[in-house]
Amino acid sequence: MKTNNLGYPRIGSNRELKKASELYWGGKISVDELIRTGKDIRRTNWQLQAEAGVDLIPSNDFSFYDQVLDLTLTLGAIPERYTDFAKSNSAIDLYFAMARGAQKNGQDVVAMEMTKWFDTNYHYIVPEFTKNQKFTLFSEKIITEFKEANALGIATKPVLIGPVSYLLLGKEKEEGFHRIDLIDALLPVYFEIFEKLQAENVEYIQLDEPFLALNLTDKERKTFMEVYHEINIRFPKIKIILANYFDCFGENLATALALPVDTFHLDLVRCPSQLDDILESGQLDPKVNLSLGVVDGRNIWKNDFKNSLSLIQKATDALGEKRVLIGPSCSLIHSPCDLDLETNDATLTPEIKQWLAFAKQKIQEIVLLKQFASNETDTKTSAAFEENTIANENRKTSKLIHNDNVKNRVAGISASDDKRKSTFETRRKSQIEALNLPLFPTTTIGSFPQTAEVRSWRAKFKKGELTAEQYNDLIEKETEATIRFQEETGIDVLVHGEFERNDMVEYFGEQLAGFTFTKNGWVQSYGSRCVKPPVIYGDVSRPNPMTVKWSKYAQSLTPKWVKGMLTGPVTILQWSFVRNDQPRSETCTQIALAIRDEVVDLEKAGIKIIQIDEPAIREGLPLRKEEWAAYLDWAVKAFRISASGVKDDTQIHTHMCYSEFNDIIQNIADMDADVITIECSRSQMELLDAFADFKYPNEIGPGVYDIHSPRVPSSEEMVKLLEKAADVIPADQLWVNPDCGLKTRHWDETKKALIEMVAAAQEMRAAV
Ligand code: GLN
Ligand code: ZN
Repeated sequence: MKTNNLGYPRIGSNRELKKASELYWGGKISVDELIRTGKDIRRTNWQLQAEAGVDLIPSNDFSFYDQVLDLTLTLGAIPERYTDFAKSNSAIDLYFAMARGAQKNGQDVVAMEMTKWFDTNYHYIVPEFTKNQKFTLFSEKIITEFKEANALGIATKPVLIGPVSYLLLGKEKEEGFHRIDLIDALLPVYFEIFEKLQAENVEYIQLDEPFLALNLTDKERKTFMEVYHEINIRFPKIKIILANYFDCFGENLATALALPVDTFHLDLVRCPSQLDDILESGQLDPKVNLSLGVVDGRNIWKNDFKNSLSLIQKATDALGEKRVLIGPSCSLIHSPCDLDLETNDATLTPEIKQWLAFAKQKIQEIVLLKQFASNETDTKTSAAFEENTIANENRKTSKLIHNDNVKNRVAGISASDDKRKSTFETRRKSQIEALNLPLFPTTTIGSFPQTAEVRSWRAKFKKGELTAEQYNDLIEKETEATIRFQEETGIDVLVHGEFERNDMVEYFGEQLAGFTFTKNGWVQSYGSRCVKPPVIYGDVSRPNPMTVKWSKYAQSLTPKWVKGMLTGPVTILQWSFVRNDQPRSETCTQIALAIRDEVVDLEKAGIKIIQIDEPAIREGLPLRKEEWAAYLDWAVKAFRISASGVKDDTQIHTHMCYSEFNDIIQNIADMDADVITIECSRSQMELLDAFADFKYPNEIGPGVYDIHSPRVPSSEEMVKLLEKAADVIPADQLWVNPDCGLKTRHWDETKKALIEMVAAAQEMRAAV
């Protein structure tokens, strides 16, 4: 039996890579220093795994930015717009230019597009393909890193994205072809890589083909067959590990099992039934091995050894020990690095900490599981097993986790709890009367610039350099100034500005029971950007109001309406590490009830308009279409529970960004928010078509300017967009607002842009 790791976090346990990359981009360190940092991280990771006793240690899992971009560069699929830049810059600067764009020495190139890596919060750089796309071996990173590990005495397993998934991850940049047609042009470069690795005596190569977990066309399935047969014919000596993760093979199972590879890797965390399916299918070639992904690669919970061992036992009974490998469900790049670095008992108490495992601990778990499963136990491993059992038992019954009041409240939710008292038609009449807003009402999405100053106040407050009172005063002043600015500009529905918030999820997590935080639990989101998701470990409840004080204060300053501002249950769930001891839907419902209480308290405090942000509703969609309905059902319901405790004349808004709506428009309508604001400007209002075609009945605020750019748009531009919107949506349903919150913008551009926006709304009103 072997242990098989799929990938290790490359940011460094103390985010060394982030720091070095940013210093390099800022011209503060040399390229040699950056490269040395990369080398140190690789060596540390390899040695850590070797010392822990991992048999198959990955290489090429390191990346300076993104593993898909690495492969794009390896394969020479460099979009034409970088040709000139490439001539006068080093390969690494070309690489960063493709990732981030570059403006220097008169050169100006835009970045490649970035999108989410399946259903994770990792983002990859999308390959761009043309009809006559050429591929050549441009970078030998994979071979160099293999040799680098060899020089340290560690024979690694190079990891790369398989050819079919690589093509499917990309995008056609011109008409008249499908990217899968490029396979014949692509394969020779893969073969060249394999030849070079073979010359270095490679034994295993891991090819990641996560698309095998998605809905595929017949042609795509056929391509899988052809590609893997070809690889097998040309390289019969290389042991190919075909890695699938994030879901079951589903209807691709027969195709997958027919591929001539050495080992299939299965994600048994996401799809525990896969093992039975395969063993019972009778289709597994008797020479082929199974790598069992039993340790969750993308969550932070300690493995349940008893549970894992029963899966492993099932496999060894059927196949024999030799044909079984043990690993994480997917690459560990989705896990934080090292639990040992969590030394703050105040936030992460010892009781909670014993339930957790980060990447380094997961490596130890994998090795221990192999030792138990193959009876190589000694007193040390027995103690580890005992400790694991105790921690898991404790978690099942801990008072920290289980709150009967919360459980009873969820169980008692009635059919009316997720419905407003009246239909939208009726509510609308009361709201028109109560709110007295003009046509094309103007508003913003919530946050105003979080300047360095505002952030420094919070830092000082946390360090004890400012008292709570001093900190409060500063935030109040900033809020008041923002209210005054909005009044002067003539905005109709004001916001308080969210200055008191570090982050739209963390702020709520810190005040909800059932959440905790790590000090160093960083996970790469993209490039040098890392996130530190809150940990939802227990039943969620709201001990005290969370935002009422700030909304009430802001409302007290002005006769205009101030919109209350909350993050929705689905988004809080989606951007946290979530419990694995109950369904996600259950946790989401608990959060929904907590938000509902907040909504009701805001109403009681005199707030008539309340926004519940749900930017992450779309990204929660399962990978396989057949599972969408079930998810949307509970997600929409959770939103409705959070929004339905108020009277008819209280207006509920929601906000979504980075979203397409066509295939979920019915569900968006089912959320039944009185007003939805959406990111729209970059698509030139195209995203509105989904609402128009559907005859979406409630009110909509299509974003009229892009907040991701410092550029100040003119009122004419915004009028054009609004006219486009008014062509497809009745004018009395339309709101006027930016695409998203303004927290990343500077004040000067924000002010100018909002003045233009108000002018645009006035022009629209005048034209009616
Ligand atoms: N209210 C939040 C803000 O304005 C919404 C952010 C988001 O949609 N991501 O910052
Ligand atoms: Zn947004």
